[in-house]
This record gives sequence, structure tokens and C-alpha cells, in this order.
Amino acid sequence: MTISASGWVAVAGLGPGSEAMVTPEVSAALAEATDVVGYIPYVARVTPRAGLTLHPSDNRVELDRAALALDLAAQGRRVVVVSSGDPGVFAMASALFEALEAGPSTWRELDVRVLPGITAMLAAAARAGAPLGHDFCAINLSDNLKPWSVIERRLRLAAEADFAMAFYNPRSRARPQGFARALEVLREACGDDRLVLFARAVSTPEETLRIVPLGQADAGMADMRTMVIVGSSRTRVIERAGSPILYTPRSVPEDAA
Ligand code: SAH
Repeated sequence: MTISASGWVAVAGLGPGSEAMVTPEVSAALAEATDVVGYIPYVARVTPRAGLTLHPSDNRVELDRAALALDLAAQGRRVVVVSSGDPGVFAMASALFEALEAGPSTWRELDVRVLPGITAMLAAAARAGAPLGHDFCAINLSDNLKPWSVIERRLRLAAEADFAMAFYNPRSRARPQGFARALEVLREACGDDRLVLFARAVSTPEETLRIVPLGQADAGMADMRTMVIVGSSRTRVIERAGSPILYTPRSVPEDAA
């Protein structure tokens, strides 16, 4: 199989939902594209136009989707693979490279670019204040692609390291009890007073933000459109007339280590 020189693949992040958070670089790639490939709700965010073919596909077929994109580019098409948020954060960029690595060696000649986007964690943090202002980690709570035991171990170690923690996919379809269990593990490790942000549908008209202590956090407060951020021991709230500000100071005192 030979590769057409005119084709390319851009794996692009559409941001958390608001048009204002789509980068000009991503908009420019979409304007040049002949094909858009991605999960149905993300492809639905792309405005149809003459000369643009949309290829929406169901969830959990990431490798097929990636192979389709690479194949189209090899034929000379200009392909944008869309993800929500950032494509490198629990999304299509890694899937594309898994397919590329396993596929025909000619795919390695393709022009492949990753175009970053505003990931949900950063959009949620910005809405609430600055909970990720000191050291933090990001964990995908879905056990579709890793054993639950790995998730529990990472939660315990992140709590021990006193990171603020950003949780993607808090509700896993395969394991509806998972998030309740995650909250139990965190309560054991961090106590009931630790602050938790539930940020749902950030930057969309359905956006809701809620800050509660871990002792009052309930699994029902999160769904698949929710980002959960658990503060470090230093994370605090500034109360005021409007919505409170959640932030983590930049420093850790010498004697806290
Ligand atoms: N690549 C995406 C993440 C995909 S995983 C990114 O960088 O944001 C999907 C998870 O992201 C959801 O389960 C939810 O936890 C989070 N998420 C995506 N969009 C969100 C939004 N607008 N508000 C809150 N959480 C969101």
C-alpha cells in the first residue's frame, strides 16, 4: 500500500463544551478537513458543510475508529479525529498511536498531528477557583482498560502523597459501585473534612458546581458528565456572597513534609 502525500490526520480536542473554548488551531484544522471521525456526541459538535464527510461511531471502538482515520489519510484525505477536552487525556490520541504502531509500516509515513484542547480538569478547576494550583494528579476512574485494584492502589498512594486529585469518568458503566468504593477509600485515607468539587457539564448551559466535604460526598453526586476534584490537605474555600472560591495555595510549609 502506498501513502498519498496530500493526506493527513489531526487528532483534535474540542474542549469541554463551549465554542469559546475550541482553539483557533482546531477550528482551522476542521475548516480544512475532508473527514471527521469520532464518538457520536463529539462529531455532532462539528458543523456539517459541503465537502465534509462525518464518520460518527459508537463508544469503545477506538481502535477501529483510529484505523479508519489512518486509512482515509493514506488515501489522501484530510482527517480530523475529534475528542472532547484534550485528545491526549483519556482520549483518542493514544488510541491512534496504538493503531499506528500495530498497523502497516506505511502508516508511519503519514502526517499525524495532535492538536491540544482544554481538558475537563482544567475547565472545572478554573470555574471553581484554583484547586490544582499546587501538585496534583489525574486519574481515570473507569475500569474498562485497567483492573480496579490498580485504581484503588493509585488512590491510596495519591492520598499518601497529598496530591490534589482530578477524577475523570467517575461513573463507570461496567462497575456502577466503583465510585462509591473510591469515596470510601479516600475517606479512609484523607478523613471526612477534605474538600471535594463536583463540576458537571462545565462550560455548557447545564453546568453545575458543588463543593462538599468528603464526609458528605455521595456517589450519586457524579455522573458521566462530572469531573470530581478532591483537594489536598491544604485546599481551602473562600466564602463570599457569590459562589465560594476553592483553591490550593502554591506553597507547602517546611514543617509539613
Ligand atoms: N479527553 C477528555 C476526557 C475524556 S473522559 C478531556 O480532556 O476532558 C470523559 C470524562 O471527562 C467524563 O466522564 C467527565 O469526567 C469528564 N468531562 C468531559 N467533559 C466535561 C465537562 N464539560 N464537564 C465536566 N466533566 C467533563
